[in-house]
Amino acid sequence: TVEGVKFVYDFTEGNKELKDLLGGKGANLAEMTNLGLPVPPGFTITTEACKVYLDSGEEPAALRDEVSAHLDALEQRMGKKLGQADDPLLVSVRSGAKFSMPGMMDTVLNIGLSDKSVQGLAKQAGDDRFAWDSYRRLIQMFGKTVLGVEGELFEDALEAAKTAKKVTVDTELEAADLKKLVTKFKRIVKTEAGRDFPQDPREQMDLAIHAVFDSWNTDRAKLYRRQERIPGDLGTAVNVCSMVFGNLGPDSGTGVAFTRDPASGHQGVYGDYLQNAQGEDVVAGIRNTVPLAELESIDKKSYDQLMQIMETLENHYKDLCDIEFTIERGQLWMLQTRVGKRTAGAAFRIATQLVDQGLIDEAEALQRVTGAQLAQLMFPRFDDEAKVQQVGRGIAASPGAAVGKAVFDSYTAVKWSRSGEKVILVRRETNPDDLDGMIAAEGILTSRGGKTSHAAVVARGMGKTCVCGAEELEVDTKRRRMTVPGGHVVEEGDLISIDGSSGKVYLGEVPVVPSPVVEYFEGRMHAGANDADELVEAVHRIMAFADRKRRLRVRANADNAEDALRARRFGAQGIGLCRTEHMFLGDRRELVERLILADTETEREESLKALLPLQKQDFVELFSAMDGLPVTVRLLDPPLHEFLPDITELSVRVALAESRQEPHENELRLLQAVHRLHEQNPMLGLRGVRLGLVIPGLFTMQVRAIAEAAAERKTAKGDPRAEIMIPLVGTVQELEIVREEADEVIAEVEAATGVQLKLSIGTMIELPRAALTAGQIAEAAQFFSFGTNDLTQTVWGFSRDDVEASFFTAYLEKGIFGVSPFETIDRDGVGSLVKLAVEAGRATRPDLKLGVCGEHGGDPESVHFFHEVGLDYVSCSPFRIPVARLEAGRAAS
Ligand code: PEP
Ligand code: MG
Repeated sequence: TVEGVKFVYDFTEGNKELKDLLGGKGANLAEMTNLGLPVPPGFTITTEACKVYLDSGEEPAALRDEVSAHLDALEQRMGKKLGQADDPLLVSVRSGAKFSMPGMMDTVLNIGLSDKSVQGLAKQAGDDRFAWDSYRRLIQMFGKTVLGVEGELFEDALEAAKTAKKVTVDTELEAADLKKLVTKFKRIVKTEAGRDFPQDPREQMDLAIHAVFDSWNTDRAKLYRRQERIPGDLGTAVNVCSMVFGNLGPDSGTGVAFTRDPASGHQGVYGDYLQNAQGEDVVAGIRNTVPLAELESIDKKSYDQLMQIMETLENHYKDLCDIEFTIERGQLWMLQTRVGKRTAGAAFRIATQLVDQGLIDEAEALQRVTGAQLAQLMFPRFDDEAKVQQVGRGIAASPGAAVGKAVFDSYTAVKWSRSGEKVILVRRETNPDDLDGMIAAEGILTSRGGKTSHAAVVARGMGKTCVCGAEELEVDTKRRRMTVPGGHVVEEGDLISIDGSSGKVYLGEVPVVPSPVVEYFEGRMHAGANDADELVEAVHRIMAFADRKRRLRVRANADNAEDALRARRFGAQGIGLCRTEHMFLGDRRELVERLILADTETEREESLKALLPLQKQDFVELFSAMDGLPVTVRLLDPPLHEFLPDITELSVRVALAESRQEPHENELRLLQAVHRLHEQNPMLGLRGVRLGLVIPGLFTMQVRAIAEAAAERKTAKGDPRAEIMIPLVGTVQELEIVREEADEVIAEVEAATGVQLKLSIGTMIELPRAALTAGQIAEAAQFFSFGTNDLTQTVWGFSRDDVEASFFTAYLEKGIFGVSPFETIDRDGVGSLVKLAVEAGRATRPDLKLGVCGEHGGDPESVHFFHEVGLDYVSCSPFRIPVARLEAGRAAS
């Protein structure tokens, strides 16, 4: 089946577009080779070979010969043979998948060394120590990554050798010491792996190649892929590269560099260099590196060449690149490059800088930033200038900057926050019992658990700052204290500060500054002004690119004038969802309660009469805040229990009154009514249109309030553009009944006021049945707005109020989904229904207006989906509007 397939590519044969086949590392090595940059010769074994190996347990039949042919060519080119006794060619074997994966095996260096060839290497290099050091590194890396020997055994032996010699750094070990260490390492391999360290260089290479293939399927790699939603069947490529040595003396070394500052985006010389060292020494922090700029005085020729290469790479990749290089006796070699990671702020700056340099256009600039980065820039952060005392660092689980008094249990968190204290909930790890405390706290800090731990998942869901897995902190919940490195004890009530964007934990109160980006969106800071900082300038320009490109309009979910005005400042083009139940909280809740529980027509009418002017005033304010822009008002949709007294509390009150023989007729009547209306599943109960249909006069009161408010605004020369939306419709019949009544009321108001209102009436699509019968529903609806919160709840059968705190952690850990379907639209399930409803709705009514107002409307990935299925707009909370604008622009370019 694999006949004629090519499994091995020389570096001269590939290019950067071939990442699927050659992996990221291999594709970029090929690209650099073809740019004429000094890359040590080598070849890449494709991901296809890996796939065959993983499927069948054996490497493809043709692979061995192909590898042999490429190895031959390499040997000819280098003028020496792999492992040749008197002058060995040595190679590195490195994994390299399409996406870089920290869960995978990385590199085995110095393949080709053996008891014999180590002598040859020593002679050729004129350096015994170097040769034996290289050999011990090979056995160590090979033993660990290929033969599965516990790495610590080697490290302990190395430590022991240093101790015996009374030295502290391994460069102080001499050839004779290293020779002894090699014997010891070989013995460890024999005991632990049950086999000798292979002396045949080709066997070393083949085993290392298989080990790289196998590393695709380690538990860690699988978990990482599931979480990051990297497909499990991509496989990894393997790079075989001739060795160059940075550890051949002071004229050798190794380093990393960035073509510009990954923190600010500024061009300049950024990186680190370590003289007389191999790559893993830099990572291991064995000796201190020097700033790259110092290379100029160490080796001017190599430095100049490196600077020139960096410029070539930037112009070629048209982006910030990061680089690994080695200098071997004054000769510079490029070992790796890739488009480099950067901070959120730098991403915006670099994108605009590259536009100014003429390297990329606006559409491309939009691909260089993400909504997630913009969201990150919108969180308040700690003042850079502040003096801080950092005491730990964990995982940046949910961004933001939080300051508060440390509390060690949920109960105290709630109690203290009720009395007005700001608290940080500190736990070893959290569980569902901590939920109240998490809600009450400013932020959450745990000493255990990763990005998908309960604390992290729940905090992100709540938009609350969270640092988790800060392992240096010893949290003692029993004694209500935590001990930080150095022994200082943080007692309950002591102030601490946590940074959910960096994972840092500080003692005391670190001052918080508002995000300059939010100041800009709020209109308190202006781009183009003298004092505007570069970041604001860059964000301003990128937003303009996005607004020019996007097709989707962006509206806000807002229920009051204040939110509406903010939304407008943030660029909202209307309100996509005004939840009228939010207008009945607080003092007005009782009015609704009375309406719901009304026994007689008179009672009901009285409560409606009391509600009407309040509702009307709400709408007048909202319509004036959004003058000239559409405002979708949704008729009441509360789960009943939210508006009724708590059944337990009420029962207790009645029982108490009874035992004290106090009068309690009203309470009893209320209790009976609450019992009558009590639902086991309120979310699936009497809510939305159902409530409108069983409580006469409720929806018509709301429609009247909308119509009268609109008429008043028109009379006042305003431009109200109200749209009336019916929630939780499952069948067109429900909608027809409500519409008929609504049309009547609107006609009445028009007649009474003499104003033409042109109100449109539409519905939410938030039940599977509504989506499945969207063609019929569109007969009665002028617009659809997808309620993807309820749609997700009902399609999955997941209670939106419960699951995130109960079993989602387990689901995320098992990789069933990488992100909650309440956060990012489930394209395959919920998304299919959306698509179907869009098509059916437009087939019935070609000018049907389509939007979405579930939480997904502000989620970057979901915005792309809504663009693809052809919605007209997304609607989201005011703070997410810039993100939605940006992502809509990205989706369209
Ligand atoms: C929805 O269900 O997606 C929606 C927007 O309505 P609510 O969240 O108010 O139920
Ligand atoms: Mg809903």
